[in-house]
Amino acid sequence: MITKELKEEVYKCIKCGLCLTPCPVYNLLRFEGVSPRGRVQLIKKILEGKTELSEHFQSLLFTCLLCETCTANCPSGLKTDRLMKIMRSEIQERLRPDWPKGMLGNLLRDKSRLPFFLFCERTRENLFSSQEDKSGLLADCELPRPDSKALRQQVPEVNPVPEPKGKVLYFTGCATNYFFPNVGKSVIKVLNRLGMEVILPRGQMCCGLPLFQAGGRKKALKNIRENLKLFNRKDVDAVVVDCAACGAALKKEYAQILEEMGEDAKPAKELAGKVMDISQILARYDLGKWLKPVPGRVTYHDPCHLGRSQGIREEPRNLLRRIPGLELVEMAGADACCGGGAALPWEHPDVASGIGRNKVQSIRETRATVVASGCPWCRRQIGENLGQDPIRVLHPIEVIAEALQES
Ligand code: SF4
Ligand code: SF4
Repeated sequence: MITKELKEEVYKCIKCGLCLTPCPVYNLLRFEGVSPRGRVQLIKKILEGKTELSEHFQSLLFTCLLCETCTANCPSGLKTDRLMKIMRSEIQERLRPDWPKGMLGNLLRDKSRLPFFLFCERTRENLFSSQEDKSGLLADCELPRPDSKALRQQVPEVNPVPEPKGKVLYFTGCATNYFFPNVGKSVIKVLNRLGMEVILPRGQMCCGLPLFQAGGRKKALKNIRENLKLFNRKDVDAVVVDCAACGAALKKEYAQILEEMGEDAKPAKELAGKVMDISQILARYDLGKWLKPVPGRVTYHDPCHLGRSQGIREEPRNLLRRIPGLELVEMAGADACCGGGAALPWEHPDVASGIGRNKVQSIRETRATVVASGCPWCRRQIGENLGQDPIRVLHPIEVIAEALQES
């Protein structure tokens, strides 16, 4: 059920249209139905019972990146992104979810199903590696290839240091664990060097945000409860995340989802107070003395879930500025969405790549050799759209780890 407060959001819209041109999807497709204002008016009609939930409405609603640009630009303070997320759940609960969303729900809610699925995908990939095989589910989805061993299989649960100055829990998220283990190893390496003991709790589950964004808020509840149990510990200094989306989930979305579902949000609010993006933790240290010169040019892309959702913009940039010899060059529209969010590359690949092309054009214009971003889905989207271009796409922590002097 949609809450009374959210239902009333639709009446805040004064139809001014200020949300239209900043919306990356509207900007590309240029029709009212995919604009934030158009979606809000459609949602209003549905809530008032003046129109039916239809496949067409579903398709319009899912042609959205949930990038929060409309929310940030609305003079009436309308929580457009929140409204759209909740309506996705309403749709999935009233209409049957399509099979990819159903499959996603089943994979991400179970600790053993996702690793098993990835194992099957790797086996299929190994068997058919000499062929242009497009038959596997990951091939269809064009996800990054899973690393041969997940991060949490490659590193111990507890990563100690001789005289610890602190202790953190590390929420790796699925993307770092399965697809970008080098990001996780970089987090551990840098934090260990700063004297922090790093613990990767083995029972952690997907943060649940992909489930929620796909309309499966009830399915996401199991993940939320398990993660809250595991990470709400008083004996640690912080819960560190390297993924913008996981960070937004743990800091903001958990409490919002629980409140909207009439559940107790207190544990989620307690956890939110301890969650820190890796760039926020490192901002507390004088990193310069640990770093060797790395000549070159780097540019930084703001993930929507880090910049708009969490207000973290300067910390990652300051980290990159600390590396001697490395020049940080701003791209045009660094905080414009890259088109990689909310499963758009899989649901509407033409729209996602249209938006992605603008982003890589801005990156190329900087003549940087590295583009850094703290979101795995942004890195996947940028990498995909850069194609054969030799620009490296890295997490800022990977750049820092490469610059770290040997002890
Ligand atoms: S900016 Fe806000 S008030 Fe104006 S049209 Fe968009 S949603 Fe409505
Ligand atoms: S969340 Fe982003 S893509 Fe979706 S309507 Fe708002 S601005 Fe457009």
